[in-house]
Amino acid sequence: MTQGPLVLVVEDEPPMRKLLRATLQSHGYRVVDAASAAEAMTMFTSHNPDLVILDLGLPDVDGIDVTRRLREFSQVPIIVLSARGREWDKVETLDAGANDYVTKPFGTNELLARVRVALRLASIRNAGAADMVVQTGPLTVDLAKRTVSVVGRDVHLTPIEYKMLATMAKHLGKVITHRQLLNEVWGPTYGDQTHYLRVHMAQLRRKIEPDPARPQLLATEPGVGYRLRDEPPVVE
Ligand code: CA
Repeated sequence: MTQGPLVLVVEDEPPMRKLLRATLQSHGYRVVDAASAAEAMTMFTSHNPDLVILDLGLPDVDGIDVTRRLREFSQVPIIVLSARGREWDKVETLDAGANDYVTKPFGTNELLARVRVALRLASIRNAGAADMVVQTGPLTVDLAKRTVSVVGRDVHLTPIEYKMLATMAKHLGKVITHRQLLNEVWGPTYGDQTHYLRVHMAQLRRKIEPDPARPQLLATEPGVGYRLRDEPPVVE
């Protein structure tokens, strides 16, 4: 129980901090917490946590700036907590280097799932062996051979569709913002052309989703971006 991953919880509201601590501890995580950005930086350097859960609305410094500061010297997984309806905050924080976000109010199961995914991705990265073959549900993306298959059947993608899918596959389970995806696929001057994404995403879904009208693999994160699901729901 005491050997679980160490999570730094940064949250200024005591009831929420208590809830997060209790939830994480009951699932085997060790927890340290901080109620401000300044305290968070101190706790981070003194405890070197395996993961950070970061509230965006802090009393001293914005969570987005905390993310930027941490990213100057650390690749620790960061999951941000944001209030509902503040898509801009989420986008900014993901662009600043956060791994994921959870919208308040959230279910504890959802939060725990995001924590598991973030820790798993970090451990793969730390092992220095980013998988060249990414598999999730019925989908297989071979990043070395540049091939894609669904239930073992080869799927032909256009170069743009492949680049989009490969970008998300390299960050399996992680939200990729519109801007990040546009940068990767079209280059930095196309950062605002989100309609490009919608068009090509629809085509991509038609080719790889079992039911394109109800996407299981390529999830839309409204106002933020897309995510290739690490644990897609099982299709009946
Ligand atoms: Ca707050």
